[in-house]
Amino acid sequence: MPAALPTSPPAIPTAPLTAEMRQALRAIVGEKGFIEDAHGKQPFVTDWRGLLVGSAGAVVRPGSTEEIAKVVRLCHEHGIAIVPQGGNTGLMGGATPWPAHTGIVLSLGRMNRVLDVDPVGYSMTVEAGCVLQTLQETASEHDRFLPLSLGAQGSCMIGGNLSTNAGGVQVLRYGNARNLVLGLEVVLPNGEIWDGLRALKKDNTGYDLKHLFMGAEGTLGIITKAVLKLWPAPKDVCTAWLAVRDPRAALEILSEAHAASEDNVGSCELLSRAAIDLALRHIPGTQDPLKADTPWYLLLEWSSARPRRDGTEGMSGKMEQFLADQLEAGRVLDATIAQTFGQSRNMWRIREAMAEASRAEGPGISFDVSVAISKIPEFIDKGLKAVRDILPTIRPYPLGHIGDGNLHFSFMGPKGMDQQTLNQYAAAITRAVNDLVTSMGGSISAEHGIGIDKLDELSHYRSKTELDIMRTIKRALDPHNIMNPGKVLRL
Ligand SMILES: Cc1cc2nc3c(=O)[nH]c(=O)nc-3n(C[C@H](O)[C@H](O)[C@H](O)COP(=O)(O)OP(=O)(O)OC[C@H]3O[C@@H](n4cnc5c(N)ncnc54)[C@H](O)[C@@H]3O)c2cc1C
Repeated sequence: MPAALPTSPPAIPTAPLTAEMRQALRAIVGEKGFIEDAHGKQPFVTDWRGLLVGSAGAVVRPGSTEEIAKVVRLCHEHGIAIVPQGGNTGLMGGATPWPAHTGIVLSLGRMNRVLDVDPVGYSMTVEAGCVLQTLQETASEHDRFLPLSLGAQGSCMIGGNLSTNAGGVQVLRYGNARNLVLGLEVVLPNGEIWDGLRALKKDNTGYDLKHLFMGAEGTLGIITKAVLKLWPAPKDVCTAWLAVRDPRAALEILSEAHAASEDNVGSCELLSRAAIDLALRHIPGTQDPLKADTPWYLLLEWSSARPRRDGTEGMSGKMEQFLADQLEAGRVLDATIAQTFGQSRNMWRIREAMAEASRAEGPGISFDVSVAISKIPEFIDKGLKAVRDILPTIRPYPLGHIGDGNLHFSFMGPKGMDQQTLNQYAAAITRAVNDLVTSMGGSISAEHGIGIDKLDELSHYRSKTELDIMRTIKRALDPHNIMNPGKVLRL
């Protein structure tokens, strides 16, 4: 749900897709790679939330890097704008063309081959259109682990994950998407192919170019292939659901969990009771793992690559002892440990389905923010007060990746209020939340990026120096502004 959308659309190139261009594009990608009827284009010009609808002259679906390079070269020559798209699950509108867009959406969906798995070298080389879950499964078949994990993993694609520098529920241990990458191949806005597809852990040969493209949301080029890092597959996993005293207790629990688990904390997710209830209301098959007299819960998972051996306590033994200690310390009020895979899945389903549940509930407003981990309780207190001062009947359901200092500071509109009415408060609420985040040294976008939604917010909060550096890079790589124009930067 957008906080406050840009007040006016940015200027973007609007060179039309002529009959000759259509013919030329069709010749490159073939009939099955070219969609120009309104019905076929619809899913590619509408965002996952159903809130933004753009337009496009055509959707082009190339099947190889060479085809992408030819398409981009042609667009470069004719000033045609390109919106790269993966699974179209982004939550900031980055993959949705602006309504004035006359160029193409370039979908990576046909670039879905795993090119190499190197279990000994702990890496795999993949095309950008591979669905994240397929890659997790491929790694697992080789007894390896690809840690990137998020609620949209059944449909988001690795190129989109890298372009948004996605976070998810394993960042605490393994880092954001950019930390999982050894090498990239990218088609630049002039159609040139940059081959940085190296599987090197060490490579200090000048600027590390791959990091330019990760998190750039398709504004600097099209990621076509990647070499991803892999880890040993987890063999002993323990998932627990804790009712906790308050967010400060949650942080103290996490802080002590590192040593108690012998450095095996995989995930630590904070959920408010309101967030849990939202998921239980809308996601069929979910069950409440634990009801306690507290508004705060923690999903804590420990995992080790070492299988549990008979006679040893393993992860669950360590977790049991830890929870007993935390109960005694008064931080945990009650807790349950998943005894079966199904129970663990239920806990994860509640957490991962939050975006789906809030979409089903109705109009809302959400902020993906981060502050230093120890400042989370203060941010929650001050943030809730600031928002309620503007709209007292708003319904908060905060949750987040607490170990990353990342909160999804989310609100459903007051009962019965439609999106249009809620939008009248959105600008004031956005200013209040983002001013607070900034005053606390935090970030207005922790993991979802900027896209369309935060275009104006980025230029409001990043310094002139930072914006100038970003514009200089953009203009150097994409002087005609054809690559995902009007996203991230207005220019
Ligand atoms: C249910 C749900 C849960 C989610 N949970 C999380 C979460 O926990 N953490 C998180 O970070 N995000 C989360 N998201 C947001 C989203 O899934 C991520 O941003 C994801 O990384 C987007 O991948 P995608 O393939 O769908 O990209 P898209 O939405 O298609 O594109 C996203 C951006 O990347 C660009 N892009 C796509 N592919 C390429 C490419 N090959 N080269 C260059 N640019 C490209 C697009 O132009 C766009 O700007 C969630 C979304 C949903 C719907």
